[in-house]
Parts: sequence; structure tokens; C-alpha cells
Amino acid sequence: MSKRIVIIGGGLAGTTAARELDARGQSVAIIDPHAGETCERPPLSKHLFDGSRHHLPYHLESTENITFVRDWAEEITFAEAAAETRYTSETQRHPHRLADHHATVGTIHLATGESIDFTHCILATGMEANRPQIPAYPDALPVYDLADAEWILDRVNNASEALNVGVLGSGYLGMEVATSAVVAGHHATVYLRGGEPLRKQLSAPVRQALFEKHRAAGVEFVTHTASPDDIRADVHDLFITSVGARPRLIPIDGHRPASAWDVDESLATSHPGVFAAGDCAIVTAGPYALDHPWACEPVAESHGKFLAELLAEVPEETGDDGERTSELNPGNGSEAEPKVWSDVPWHWSFQGPEKVFTAGLTSPDADDTIIRHDPTGAKFQVFHFDGPDPESKLVGVETLNWPPMQAAARRVLGGNHIPTRARLEDPNFDFKAHSRL
Ligand SMILES: Cc1cc2nc3c(=O)[nH]c(=O)nc-3n(C[C@H](O)[C@H](O)[C@H](O)COP(=O)(O)OP(=O)(O)OC[C@H]3O[C@@H](n4cnc5c(N)ncnc54)[C@H](O)[C@@H]3O)c2cc1C
Repeated sequence: MSKRIVIIGGGLAGTTAARELDARGQSVAIIDPHAGETCERPPLSKHLFDGSRHHLPYHLESTENITFVRDWAEEITFAEAAAETRYTSETQRHPHRLADHHATVGTIHLATGESIDFTHCILATGMEANRPQIPAYPDALPVYDLADAEWILDRVNNASEALNVGVLGSGYLGMEVATSAVVAGHHATVYLRGGEPLRKQLSAPVRQALFEKHRAAGVEFVTHTASPDDIRADVHDLFITSVGARPRLIPIDGHRPASAWDVDESLATSHPGVFAAGDCAIVTAGPYALDHPWACEPVAESHGKFLAELLAEVPEETGDDGERTSELNPGNGSEAEPKVWSDVPWHWSFQGPEKVFTAGLTSPDADDTIIRHDPTGAKFQVFHFDGPDPESKLVGVETLNWPPMQAAARRVLGGNHIPTRARLEDPNFDFKAHSRL
């Protein structure tokens, strides 16, 4: 069977991969009940109260190369003989080999009973929101999907006076909802289990600065809320939950992982020819390995691009190994190195007027960071290192309200001149100038 690429999930990672494969003249099928009609998720938590556009479609058209399969994928199976004879850890590290004449063919089984064979499959199924019950507010909804967001928007648009909005959860989405409500003239109260918001996302200096700013702007916080049962009835007109999400996973040969698809540095799962991208993947190797999904927009897009490039290189019809190697690695007779996903991951969150970014590897628990302010003291960056020594290397940066310096952080982390802790401790060190080296 010649190369057949199938993507499961037409959100950001899947759409990006399909668009990039199409641009390379590679045909691909996308399975998603909403294929071709999916939209960006970030506006859903930021623009439900301010009248801005919350619906930003990805605009992926079906073309000669792109086939939409509007269905749910339910399961993947493999032909047993092919799976046991053809694929070893070596072929996982060199996925281009999967395109040979004997390539394993997997089969995707769809909810309608149809099935599709593939030689290469990208799992890009994203996440689904947790939906806790709030006894006092049985209509409470997350702002995760367009349908939920539009139900909420309808309530907002039909309100004749300022709403009193309750929010359960104080991660990025919860803070975006609460702050955008307050900016639009509504009241917002955030219920959180701990003592401060953004505890799992940002280091202490950044989350504390945001906590103060949000309180000053009028967001109310009810800390140490042990259970949703403790939330009083008859206070809020609208209740939004934001207590995390979990990857959507389908079984492969009967196996469904506990939390997400583990992928190696090439985004390959342990299943032959199967890759995972975006929110449903945990990158376990390479420079940006993490113990949970990155779950951010730039990473989903970068994964989609990376896999399109990787899979587009797989020849349709191949001869022996030597032929394939020289084709992929011109001028070099040796085996090609596995490609490694290495784009600097970053995240953005706009919380009312506050803009917070991370780049690279940052930790909410880090306490040996370096903080650098702008001359007014209003904006700052927090620098994270791979150790406590003066010679330890910069690995991540958080930036509050200073977008040009977030761009500088991304340039530095993606470049070849990574500064040490000692350099960043020097008040005369010009980080922005350094980013241009
Ligand atoms: C409200 C909200 C706000 C956000 N704001 C930000 C932000 O400000 N900054 C930031 O960096 N990130 C943000 N994110 C995160 C970012 O949107 C995600 O990381 C990104 O969308 C992940 O892309 P994805 O392709 O992995 O998954 P998704 O975009 O979620 O797409 C997954 C797709 O897979 C489909 N699918 C699932 N299961 C199946 C199946 N079995 N068969 C067929 N199709 C299936 C779904 O229908 C969906 O279309 C936000 C997320 C949300 C929900």
C-alpha cells in the first residue's frame, strides 16, 4: 500500500498538519465531526462579554489533497502479522521507513461503522473539559467548546443589566473569563480551592502580581473553597466552570492510555506509524519533554507543522533502505538522524488588560529565579534556570505585560547564545540586545 496519511481531529494541530501537507502536494484525510468547520478556542474564554469576535474559524477547505471525513474515530486496530514483524524501536526512531512496500496498515474504525486504513496516522484529538456539578447552579458550563460558549453568550447578550458571574477554578481560563467579565462592567467572583489563583501555571512573583491587579480591578475571590457544594445559591446569574480538561483518547489495539499519548522526540507513539500532536500528547523526550501535555496554542500549531514536514518526506514508493536514506539525506550516505521537535514552546494568556506569557521550561514551584523589571517597575520578566550555579543555563522565561521582551525571550531560547544565570544577574546585561545576536 502506498503512503496514506490520516489525521484524527481537525482542531489546531490537525488543521495545521493538513494545511502543510496540502502545501507539499501530499494527500491527507481528516476525521472530525466538524472537519472544515472548527474554530480557534482562545477567543472563547476572552471575548464572551466584550462583543468582540469569539468565532474565528480555521478556514480549512477540502481540496484535491484534503478529504474531510465528518465522523468520530472510535478505535484503531492493526493487522497482527504486520505489527509483529515490521516494527521495532529502530523503525519508530526512523519513521520514514514505515513507507516501504510492507508498511503496516492500521485501520481506524468510525462511529458510523465505516473504517479507513492508513500507513501513517496523526492523533490530534485535543482535550475535553471537566464538567463538575455545582449543586446551586445546575446550568453551570465550561467555556471550552463553541456550543457551550454560544449558550453562555446568549445569556450575556440577553441580560438587561450587569450580570453577577460565578467562576469555579482559577487557572488561565477561569482568570480570563472573570477578568473579561469585569472589564465589560459585570461582577465576577472566582471560587478557588487554594489561597491564590494560577498556582499551577505561574511562579509566585507573576501569580501574586496578577492576583493583586485582578483584585484591584474588582474581581472577587473566595479562597479555600473546599467543594462546589459550598457555593451559595441565589448569588450568581451565570456560572462558569474552569477546572481543567483531559485528553480525548481512543483505544489502539484495545489499549487506551491513562492520561495522554506518550510520544518520543519525533512525536511518535509506541504504535507503528502513529503520531500524536497538540493537547492529546505528552512529549517524553527531546529538549521540551514534560510530564503533562503542553496544552497551548503555539505548541499545537508547531506539532502540526513538524509532523507534516516529517511525513511529507516519506517517499510514496521506495526501493531498498540505501535508496531511501540518500533521498532523505542528500550527500550523506549514513542513516538519517531522527528529526526532533524542538520549537521553543510558549503560551499566552490575556486576562483583561493583563498580558502574561511563558516561553520554554518554567515552573510554578521555582523559587531560585531572577526577576528583571522595566525602568518603571510595572513590567517584569522571571528567568528560570537548569540549576542553582552561576553557570547554569537559562531554560525558560515568564513575562508580564511586556510583549517585546516575550519576543526577545523566544529568540534567545531558540538561538545559540543561551545566557547563564551569572550573566542575567549582571544589571548591565542587555537581554534584548542579546536576543539579536
Ligand atoms: C477556551 C480556551 C482558551 C484557550 N486560550 C489559550 C490561550 O490564550 N493561549 C494558548 O496558548 N492556548 C490557549 N488554549 C489552548 C489551545 O486552544 C489548545 O492548546 C489548542 O486548541 C490545542 O489544539 P489541538 O489541535 O490539540 O486540539 P483541539 O483544537 O481541541 O482540536 C481537537 C479536535 O479533535 C476532534 N476530536 C476529538 N476526538 C475525536 C475523535 N475521536 N474523532 C474525531 N475527531 C475528534 C475535536 O472535535 C476537535 O475538533 C485555549 C483553550 C481553550 C479551550
